[in-house]
Amino acid sequence: MHGDLDAHDTGAAIFAPEAFGLDDAAAELIAQARRFGARVLAPRAAQHDREASFPLENFRDMHDEGLLGICIPKEDGGLGAGYRTYCLAAAELGRFCGSTALSFNMHVCSTLWSGALSDDLDMSAAERAAHVARRRLHYRRILDDGAVYSQPFSEGGAAAAGAVAFGTEARPAAGGFIVNGKKIFASLSGAADCYGVLCTERGEGEAASRRNTLYLAIPANAPGVAVVGDWDPLGMRATVSRTLLFKDVFVPEDAMLMPRGVYFQAATRWPHMFLTLSPTYMGLAQAAYDFTIRYLRGEMPGTPPVKRRMFPTKQIAVAEMHVMLEQTKALWFQAISEARANPTKEQVLRAYAAQFTVMENANALATKAIRTCGGQAMLKSLALERIYRDSRCGSLMLPWTAEICLDRIGREALYEPGETDD
Ligand SMILES: Cc1cc2nc3c(=O)[nH]c(=O)nc-3n(C[C@H](O)[C@H](O)[C@H](O)COP(=O)(O)OP(=O)(O)OC[C@H]3O[C@@H](n4cnc5c(N)ncnc54)[C@H](O)[C@@H]3O)c2cc1C
Repeated sequence: MHGDLDAHDTGAAIFAPEAFGLDDAAAELIAQARRFGARVLAPRAAQHDREASFPLENFRDMHDEGLLGICIPKEDGGLGAGYRTYCLAAAELGRFCGSTALSFNMHVCSTLWSGALSDDLDMSAAERAAHVARRRLHYRRILDDGAVYSQPFSEGGAAAAGAVAFGTEARPAAGGFIVNGKKIFASLSGAADCYGVLCTERGEGEAASRRNTLYLAIPANAPGVAVVGDWDPLGMRATVSRTLLFKDVFVPEDAMLMPRGVYFQAATRWPHMFLTLSPTYMGLAQAAYDFTIRYLRGEMPGTPPVKRRMFPTKQIAVAEMHVMLEQTKALWFQAISEARANPTKEQVLRAYAAQFTVMENANALATKAIRTCGGQAMLKSLALERIYRDSRCGSLMLPWTAEICLDRIGREALYEPGETDD
């Protein structure tokens, strides 16, 4: 037994349902995620982190709990959670295992983006009917067979930041597409059943355009798919984010997780879709704080019952952590509550600010937790040093890295669309 929270300690909800005005159905689903995190994820987290191995058994158990279908619409047999409820549930998972919560996010986005988010976007009636029929095939695989999806977008260039078209290309072919390309940092590589790949549809002689981005579910066992490279990173080790190669991979038309043109529309009209990497780190921020309270009270399993809470400097540090955590929670809750199609400029800037705040503060809280709890708290037998390493990764995650959020807030606060200084 490691010093992670013991199996029966679920703690209190990060966002108390009454205080944050959550309805009973949302509160119950979020509580289910918290109980699952404490019971199933926490005991397995240290070993997968140490081995940098993927926790596939967590996903098998999430299938049994119905969580793989958390954002699949109810009429298709899923739990039908909306954007905010999903974010709050995912944050609860992130308290117990950052890698699982982050990988889970890649899976869930395949269903959220093709589901509730796509329902908000423009399509002709025929396109929508074809889309609903196609996504149902993927939802059935997830719900019936426990299929796990991932989201490899990054290529190592400017495409994942939204600056240029993806270099991975889908050439139209009879009945589908032929895909060629490479994705780096592909969480769930070698573990997912289907890779949800963003690529550029490009006919013979056609120029690459972001407008022609296709979102394709490529089966991991399709001929021409390979996982290469090693994976031995600082943090988020159990995401196993290796490199994927696609060499003349054929996928049928029903691999489209969104109709043609709809991913581009989503990226421009539904920007909160890119805030979905933050719940994991909201959970890690809470975990760093919770650890500190328990440790200073002398109640951390696996450590001697030595109290350290009576020192004024510890109390001030905890107070500062509390203030930072409450600031983070308030901004983030507001941002995830106003996710929708066509948000106002103010809401978009707030979403960038929330992403920046969660990603930077999660690591700031973990750093402060280590300094405050002291030397014995950073031993690898305790969860805090893993929280510290995992939380460092948040600011790096494209498309909304901490730097890109600042860059956009500064520019978009000072310039209206189309404005120049000429
Ligand atoms: C644990 C982990 C898991 C991941 N899992 C996935 C996954 O499942 N799928 C996936 O697609 N990706 C994933 N990523 C990848 C991630 O989003 C980045 O693509 C990855 O960190 C590689 O980035 P890079 O080194 O190429 O950064 P670069 O692209 O070189 O960027 C470096 C920095 O430069 C800045 N920058 C880059 N482009 C621009 C720009 N156009 N304008 C302004 N500033 C810019 C950014 O601040 C960025 O942090 C994961 C990353 C981590 C750490």
